Amino acid sequence: MQKNPYKKPDAFTKAAKKQGFPARSVFKLEEIDQRCRLFQQGQRVIDLGAAPGSWSLFVQRKIGPSGRLVAVDRLPLTVTLVGHARVHLADLFELSDDAFTAEAPFDVVLSDMAPNTSGMRDIDQFQSYELVMKALDIANRFARKGSSLVAKIFMGPDYEKARAAFRKDYAMVRTLRPEPVRQNSIELFLVATDKRRGPAVLTPGETAPSPDVGAGQNTHQKTKR
Ligand code: SAM
Repeated sequence: MQKNPYKKPDAFTKAAKKQGFPARSVFKLEEIDQRCRLFQQGQRVIDLGAAPGSWSLFVQRKIGPSGRLVAVDRLPLTVTLVGHARVHLADLFELSDDAFTAEAPFDVVLSDMAPNTSGMRDIDQFQSYELVMKALDIANRFARKGSSLVAKIFMGPDYEKARAAFRKDYAMVRTLRPEPVRQNSIELFLVATDKRRGPAVLTPGETAPSPDVGAGQNTHQKTKR
């Protein structure tokens, strides 16, 4: 019989619990941050697919009490977030713009979203690609010029397409496979930095096109109310 690699808590799971994080995934983000220097005190961060909450908790520790965090998941978070944190218990595809504009423009957009796997590799990969493209769409509409985007993607036929889309919108794109990713997993992380343009959606208080938006572009649109 094949061994279930998820059954026994490994060193990362044990270390996560010891440090107060509900999931070992925190060490993936920690490694990405160590390599790409994403976070600073006072930033605005949105965490897509945030439950049970390890990334959100990690981010809050990095951005401190002056930072702002928005967490989105259709499942509840099991951690207690302090300070400026908004949690949207919803499917990302069903949220209106208001959920984002209240805290935008973001400095960092994170997506650890994963589809409910069907066991059919092509389907799972395509659904993962769709989640990644949704994260890119959120970043394009609500993140500031110069911001970063981290998105988990399952390796497959659509990976190159996603990477090419990221390259259009960010000056630098890296693909990382942090050490805590399980050996048999097909997940990778696209890490994009230095977003080329400002947010395409007006945030409260904005009345004129932001100087961040590239010249000649008319990408602003009114926030849905
Ligand atoms: N980063 C999280 C942490 O450190 O605790 C773990 C995230 S878990 C691997 C992936 C999450 O993505 C799941 O909780 C799932 O509910 C969420 N997710 C997937 N698709 C989603 C969608 N369309 N809208 C909201 N959440 C979604």
